[in-house]
Amino acid sequence: MNEISTHKEMLKDSGLKNTKHRNSILSIFEKNAQPLTAEQIYAELANQNTSINLSTIYRILKTLTEKGLVIKTTIKGDSKALFELNNNEHRHHLVCIECKEITMVDECPFEEYEKKLKEKMGFTILDHKLEIYGVCNHCQEKADEKNKTGIDQPSKG
Ligand SMILES: [Zn+2]
Ligand SMILES: [Zn+2]
Repeated sequence: MNEISTHKEMLKDSGLKNTKHRNSILSIFEKNAQPLTAEQIYAELANQNTSINLSTIYRILKTLTEKGLVIKTTIKGDSKALFELNNNEHRHHLVCIECKEITMVDECPFEEYEKKLKEKMGFTILDHKLEIYGVCNHCQEKADEKNKTGIDQPSKG
């Protein structure tokens, strides 16, 4: 499938005008599995020699988020919001507090819980977000290595 025409469809379906910048941003999301900050998108666009202001990126991201094309995630302890394409797949994030890597998980533990809440509280749940914080496999291995060698690394800051 042609990438650009998909973006055009997405924009059209949301009643948005199809602009070069919107298309560029959407294609960057498609190429990256990880959620991105506005600054990362800015850097990627600069690599492609696309001239765009950071403030323009923020404005486009806001519009795309409002239209549901993009999902905005805020990670605890990090002031920068992350953006990713909304594939209408319900997913959760595993956030490593060491390397800040974000891993997507498809499984959702809340389906039954939502049903129960609806029965109990009469509350119709439309969506939920969940970020799980911890230490990834890779960082755990690194920590284990350090412990094994017994070298006391001075901690920074
Ligand atoms: Zn990690
Ligand atoms: Zn869920």
